[in-house]
Amino acid sequence: MRIDKMLANMGYGSRKEVKKLLKEGGLQVNGEVVKDGKSHVNPETDTVVLHGEEVQYREFIYLLMHKPPGVISATEDQNDETVIDLLQMEDQIFEPFPVGRLDKDTEGLLLLTNDGQLSHQLLSPKRHVPKTYFARIEGEVTESDVKAFAAGVTLDDGYETKPGKLTILESAPQSEIELVITEGKFHQVKRMFEAVGKKVTYLKRISMGPLGLGDLELGEYRELTEEEVTMLK
Ligand code: URA
Repeated sequence: MRIDKMLANMGYGSRKEVKKLLKEGGLQVNGEVVKDGKSHVNPETDTVVLHGEEVQYREFIYLLMHKPPGVISATEDQNDETVIDLLQMEDQIFEPFPVGRLDKDTEGLLLLTNDGQLSHQLLSPKRHVPKTYFARIEGEVTESDVKAFAAGVTLDDGYETKPGKLTILESAPQSEIELVITEGKFHQVKRMFEAVGKKVTYLKRISMGPLGLGDLELGEYRELTEEEVTMLK
């Protein structure tokens, strides 16, 4: 890969800015000063040092965030703070985007990556990635709701959902439930409860596939480990 492309990809500036940076002579590849941006490096095997610091090249970033309420799952928004605004600059450089969406008022587990292929796979209806939600519901959730969810419910637009596994944790006057679904339709959990005449008052995603929130506080995030990324693929 060309050295100027590698550095530009990593956020060290535009190709033009990188060219200037190289001209200044601060870059060494395997101990040799390299000033020509067109020179090739193998990011896997060559040691690239910029101003005395080793540059670890990587193309993709995978982040697991505990999304707080009030923040938008998008890369930019005219009015509100986005999940990208919560990231450190050094992570924003990779231009990650959220994998799917959580509503503004929903909190919980959100993946962010710049790996379009993985994002696409995880969101594909064919993959049936299970997502677990904790919710508070106005009124009493009953065994007949559990049965209805297990059979699949009809949403307001006529869509028949796949079966969902509903577990009642607390019932009446305000219920607490856990719901596992394998789809990600717009407002799906809220609309599934609407389909049985009930209202979600609080919603949190607690897991997605093999990933859970662990002890991440609201607004915190961490990188996935290599093993976790492999499990997702
Ligand atoms: N279902 C919803 O209704 N909202 C979310 O944010 C996620 C799932």
